Amino acid sequence: MNNSPAQALPTSTDTPWQSLATRVLEGEQLTADEALQILAAPDLEVLDLLQAAFRVRHHYFGRSVQLYFLMNAKSGLCPEDCGYCSQSKDSSAEISKYNILRRDELMAGAQAAAERKAKTYCIVISARGPSEREMAAVEEIVPEIKKQFDLDVCACLGLLTPEQADRLAACGVNRVNHNLNTGEEFYREVCTTHTYQDRVDTLHAVRDAGMELCSGGIVGMGESPRDVVDMAIQLRDLKVESIPVNFLNPIEGTPLSGQKDLTPNYCLKVLAMFRLVNPEREIRIAGGRELHLRSLQALGLYAANSIFVGDYLTTQGQLPEADYNMINDLGFEVTQSVEVASSKSCDAQQQKQDG
Ligand code: SF4
Repeated sequence: MNNSPAQALPTSTDTPWQSLATRVLEGEQLTADEALQILAAPDLEVLDLLQAAFRVRHHYFGRSVQLYFLMNAKSGLCPEDCGYCSQSKDSSAEISKYNILRRDELMAGAQAAAERKAKTYCIVISARGPSEREMAAVEEIVPEIKKQFDLDVCACLGLLTPEQADRLAACGVNRVNHNLNTGEEFYREVCTTHTYQDRVDTLHAVRDAGMELCSGGIVGMGESPRDVVDMAIQLRDLKVESIPVNFLNPIEGTPLSGQKDLTPNYCLKVLAMFRLVNPEREIRIAGGRELHLRSLQALGLYAANSIFVGDYLTTQGQLPEADYNMINDLGFEVTQSVEVASSKSCDAQQQKQDG
């Protein structure tokens, strides 16, 4: 039994975090120093911080949760050297490696997304940027997906030229994902084969082509809290619509496999910081949710309003039923009910990419 005197808990009203939330709801932007204070908050204040974040989340999104479904449409074989990535040439992780999937496989993924109540089907390839063959495959499949399913399509194809971005917009892609991954200062520590500016340039090309932006990052790569804040503010400046927040899964065989210093409470502070810095944007708890938030993962949805349902690119997520139960138990609800155009069943377990 612990007989030490109880520490004073923050009161539920008029705490510094509640004041921050009030200012954010009044239209003020957080400064970098205020965002840093959130990441440095004592663990005892995490519930108060989440309550403040939830006021903002609720103002913009109510109790809704958006679901996304990932399809790893081309795996491994990537010439880039991103240190966190199991698909890089520098990774010896044991993953499936294959070229871009066939048309029927991509359509089966869309079917799985619809069956899992996802709003958005994310087609992801491992590449510095798309080859002509990969561009043509996406241009062919996207109109078919949009015709058969009530799904938005997000394409994650690597670096894009303005011409490639225009072609994606023309074939019906709603949104492009291209993560900044971390702050500009730290970027060169995790990748040397392309630059942070290359990534920013791709986001500008996507915006100029008229598509929405999905861009976020990975926390837990050895960066400082300041790097995380810099990324959150850069995403705010770019007016990114959707922000996936990944927590590094240090996959054996990747250069960053030794990075294991995240705690569930720190992950919750990160999510609260992203919500308060980007109040009206979709914040998604992405890869590493189950691994790092563990028994606290439901709490993350008080700050975030979106998750992936199903598996990640090369690692498994929890079963969709567990996600639906978590959302129901919170009293939240999945926003999109999707008309499934075909009755053909798809076993998404076939899409699990871990070898
Ligand atoms: S460019 Fe993408 S697929 Fe290639 S190593 Fe980097 S993160 Fe992985």
